[in-house]
Amino acid sequence: MKSLPHIAVIGAGAFGGWTALHLLKRGARVTLLDAWGPGNSRASSGGETRIMRGTYGPDQPYTETAARALKLWAKYERRWKKQFLHRTGVLWMVSSRDDAYERGSLDVLREAKMKFQELSTPELKKRWPQINFEDVHWGIFEPECGYLDARASCHAVVDAFVGQGGVYRQLAVSPEALENAATSSPLRGITLSNSSRLKADYYVFACGPWLGKLFPETLGSVIRPTKQDIFFFGTPAGDSSFTDAHLPVWGDHGNRFFYGIPGSDCRGFKVADDTRGGAFDPTNGERVVSQATLKRVREYIAFRFPAMKDAPLVETRVCQYEQTADSHFVVDRHPRMNNVWLLGGGSGHGFKHGPALGEIMAGLVLKDEEAHAVWRLSRFSRRQT
Ligand SMILES: Cc1cc2nc3c(=O)[nH]c(=O)nc-3n(C[C@H](O)[C@H](O)[C@H](O)COP(=O)(O)OP(=O)(O)OC[C@H]3O[C@@H](n4cnc5c(N)ncnc54)[C@H](O)[C@@H]3O)c2cc1C
Repeated sequence: MKSLPHIAVIGAGAFGGWTALHLLKRGARVTLLDAWGPGNSRASSGGETRIMRGTYGPDQPYTETAARALKLWAKYERRWKKQFLHRTGVLWMVSSRDDAYERGSLDVLREAKMKFQELSTPELKKRWPQINFEDVHWGIFEPECGYLDARASCHAVVDAFVGQGGVYRQLAVSPEALENAATSSPLRGITLSNSSRLKADYYVFACGPWLGKLFPETLGSVIRPTKQDIFFFGTPAGDSSFTDAHLPVWGDHGNRFFYGIPGSDCRGFKVADDTRGGAFDPTNGERVVSQATLKRVREYIAFRFPAMKDAPLVETRVCQYEQTADSHFVVDRHPRMNNVWLLGGGSGHGFKHGPALGEIMAGLVLKDEEAHAVWRLSRFSRRQT
């Protein structure tokens, strides 16, 4: 009888955690490692919340994976008797003159059977009087979407993984010569922070913004961590109109893309500017928001949510996107080590896909298949030539 493959998954964020769980479910022996723990404060999956949506423009694989993920989030909520998705609905405001992205989203949403409503400006005004819809031409509302619990769900995935026989260890993989040591395929082992060696048949590196440090030659210029500032504003006392009781998750696609998650866990009115920030070191970077971004966000709120104009800033967070040049993920084998898979490049939109991506990844590794062309590394070499 063929013995089960042993797979080491490095990184227990949204990508690695779900991959480890799906590999285990398919019968592999899996060791999951993380330097600081699932959804830790440095990780891109850290913090409280992430948006779940299907609006993604035309010609892309993400609406389909979001639709699959939506089913899987619900399945694991039932199975583990926990809530991850808060179904507030997601409102996408079209404030750009060019609405090709949104128009192109509609057929894709239909094909993926994700529910949505196309709303005119009068309909938007009637439904959400707290919002100033000036400059908004129309909107898409996805009633079955909303926001996901980020850190909490990463923990739940690892708990389930361990409960089902997976091995989790809080250890870091040494980046030292990882890529150079493996001049020949396959990779024979990794060195851990306690000086031990771990040998596996396959390795899945799902190290988010750290991937470029681990694989400088292959990913150093492919995945770029960018600083992203998040702001939480205090809502008026005793007034729930800016909480998730009365306001959906929203995105505003104009010259910039602003988005917000209202009032999760009484934490305040979360707002961010999705514009990619400067380069950021996920290990040693100081997580202090920029005053310039705060000013821009305040001006935006005063315009779009006039009653929140003078709202006090109650909390801030700094996270980083693990950004690729085209915002598509990286799902591929290492070019020189055929037992090493690289998984990352979430580029500010990866979290929601975690359960579906983990499922895809388990299939790729165990069946030795090729990833979707848009996620393969060859797209970058094609661009250079
Ligand atoms: C501010 C912000 C807002 C976002 N909003 C959304 C959103 O609304 N919707 C959405 O879908 N997505 C969103 N995203 C994107 C999404 O959160 C990320 O794409 C996703 O969480 C990436 O997960 P990951 O597992 O690839 O990386 P990570 O979560 O960073 O996980 C990588 C893990 O690897 C570990 N690690 C690193 N190096 C080593 C090593 N040497 N040895 C062992 N372990 C190591 C780290 O500790 C970490 O836990 C947002 C991201 C940010 C930062």
